Amino acid sequence: MGGAVFDEAVRVLAGVVGVDVGEARELLGRRSVRVLGFEGVRYVSFRRGLRGFEEGTLIAWSGGEVRVVHGYPSIRRVLIPDVALPRWFGGGRVVLEEKMNGYNVRVFGLRGRVYAVTRGGLICPYTTRRLRRLYGEGLVAALEYLGGEEEYFIAGEVVGVENPYTRYYYPEAPEFDYFVFDVFRGGEPLPLRIRDAAVEAGGLRRVRVLAEIEPGDSTAFWRVIEGLEVEGREGVIVKDPEYRVPPLKYTTSATNIGDLRLGMAFPFDEGRGFLFSRVVREVFKSWQGRGAGAEELGRAILEPAVASVERVSRGEPLVEEFTLTMEDIREVEELVEYFAGLGVPVSLVSVEHLEGGRVKARFAKAKESEREIRRILATGLSPLD
Ligand code: ATP
Ligand code: MG
Repeated sequence: MGGAVFDEAVRVLAGVVGVDVGEARELLGRRSVRVLGFEGVRYVSFRRGLRGFEEGTLIAWSGGEVRVVHGYPSIRRVLIPDVALPRWFGGGRVVLEEKMNGYNVRVFGLRGRVYAVTRGGLICPYTTRRLRRLYGEGLVAALEYLGGEEEYFIAGEVVGVENPYTRYYYPEAPEFDYFVFDVFRGGEPLPLRIRDAAVEAGGLRRVRVLAEIEPGDSTAFWRVIEGLEVEGREGVIVKDPEYRVPPLKYTTSATNIGDLRLGMAFPFDEGRGFLFSRVVREVFKSWQGRGAGAEELGRAILEPAVASVERVSRGEPLVEEFTLTMEDIREVEELVEYFAGLGVPVSLVSVEHLEGGRVKARFAKAKESEREIRRILATGLSPLD
């Protein structure tokens, strides 16, 4: 980072966070605060919550304009819906929205262009370019409708299999699409009817509203969940339509088990918290007579992990692969550099040239599990105890 950029970052941060220049310098020296850039935009990203700003907050500036995109808040998970919903929401009706399984993207506008921010507060070049192609004008129109890019931002889920983060197949969005679920003014989510009007104004897509129920209507809640189980969908986010109370989330067994299967293919990457939290979900689900069952749970934990050990024992690599369609080779290089700059081990495997100059690029993300399993196979010893 050049001296001039650093000084600019100090000034912007001091102004937004409300600290003096000396303190802003100290904050910028922390490992949890990064200064990055994309196109002509510079930004500061908070890896941790800081001074009342949520984790994942981004502060961007360009040409004298500054934008603050607050971190998307964490949503509490429900284990026993019949208890949690009436306690949390009280009397008013709640909306059950589909929880889509992709990655969280906040979109903000700066000098007429939109930018896609991932959960951690980074502008993802791939997501930004692809979203602009799909909805560039619509996103600008939606922000305009809300009252302008200065104060508002949009939050939604990118789903489909063409992305570097979370690949889950949706028939209505097989490759790449964006489903809006919230709109924010400053750090505050707005009532759902305002979100819906903005979505309509921009010709965007929105997550499905599955039902509107009384929080204590257990029959109606479980009917929705059972439908999602059959369809193999992720779950619901339960929202107060006025957003007076923060939302809650609940996922299907199909998802708990599916996540375990995916995660346990890389057992030493996902960590112990990953496994335990999903086991806890199934413990309480089973107690309520709705669990996936011991055999399915056991298989989901064991089978993918054993398959990975088997692969490594044959000398094969253990990587996460994904394929992206990009406009040209420059976009491929841009993404490789982006991940390299973040220290994420993503490498380019192959490039296929399509008509019109576009390319299909295949990437591989190295996994810690490969090294860990190789070491276990060589020493015969556990790395854990
Ligand atoms: P946390 O919310 O605790 O940070 P997480 O990052 O692991 O958890 P999830 O367990 O996937 O996230 O649940 C919250 C996420 O669900 C949101 O951040 C958002 O990306 C996603 N999501 C999908 N559909 C919706 C929806 N309809 N409304 C709100 N969020 C949704
Ligand atoms: Mg998710």
